[in-house]
Amino acid sequence: MPAYPLFDDVHVKFGRQIASLQNKEFHKKMNGLIKAACKTEQTVSSFLTQLQLLIGEYMCNTDTKILVPNFDTIRYFLQELEEAVQHLPEVLVSSDQNLNIIKLHYRDVSVTLQRCNSAEYPWKVIASDLPNIPIFKDFEKNVTNLSVAKTKFIWQMEILEKAWKQLEEIDENCWVIDPLKPNKSHLYRRIHLSQSLSVTITIDPLNPIALPVIKFSGCDSEVKRQTDDVSNNIHKWDYDCSILENLKMLLNMYEFPEQQESMEEKKAIINNECGICFSDELPDKICNNKKCMRYFHSVCLSKWLQTDIGNQVVFNHIYGPCPYCKEKISCSIEH
Ligand SMILES: [Zn+2]
Ligand SMILES: [Zn+2]
Repeated sequence: MPAYPLFDDVHVKFGRQIASLQNKEFHKKMNGLIKAACKTEQTVSSFLTQLQLLIGEYMCNTDTKILVPNFDTIRYFLQELEEAVQHLPEVLVSSDQNLNIIKLHYRDVSVTLQRCNSAEYPWKVIASDLPNIPIFKDFEKNVTNLSVAKTKFIWQMEILEKAWKQLEEIDENCWVIDPLKPNKSHLYRRIHLSQSLSVTITIDPLNPIALPVIKFSGCDSEVKRQTDDVSNNIHKWDYDCSILENLKMLLNMYEFPEQQESMEEKKAIINNECGICFSDELPDKICNNKKCMRYFHSVCLSKWLQTDIGNQVVFNHIYGPCPYCKEKISCSIEH
């Protein structure tokens, strides 16, 4: 009412809850009421009473249902939120406008939950920076309220702390070529060893200093040499040392190759497209022939080699000629 207490230029706005009243017929009737109120210089309260009657009448006639919010639910939720904010204050709580989506932050990690109409799982995880590991499955389970969610979140972070420390040491001392920007959800690192060899390690988050899963990618001769080194040294794995130290021991390396500063060299290593499908998603095979050194995906190479029935298969490995230089190359046919 810009001209209060007069009704000139009055506007009536409805919230989203009664959006069903946003139609021409209702507006026409309402504008009639406003005009009448202007003419007869009514008070605001008598106008509102008439408007209320009009809404009631309209709802009866048109069978419109208006969702009236349940105030008990809202009060209960606000109480839950207040308790959650006070509980474990180191975990920050933020939310969207409607309080339906709640984000928990701790250090550089966050978990986002959405409120659901389920008595059993009132909160559903819709985004998480935490890795997807089996014992963390069903984060929702037993999360009866936000305080429980906070406790669970901190508990998972504490479990992962040791694993993250191991991976950080690798990130600081090795040239990691995959993932290019490691985050907390990545439990693997593909480390550059040479132009024709890289190693991917995947650690067990629950037992981060145990022997990780180790997989070499590169040309057959290099892969064989390093796999032999690993078999010879594996008994020396030392649980008192970090993964990085143990890896150096396994691979007979004094230091890992440093990351190349020059962009050209970097590109030469990272931007190698597969010689069969030409996608630049990091290939894992390299031709043995030093003059060829074409890169391939195992999947692409194995399909290629299988097209020639003359190629030999021994223990799930297929042997045949490199598609480019015809030098002997092999790869696993199971992926
Ligand atoms: Zn490919
Ligand atoms: Zn080749």
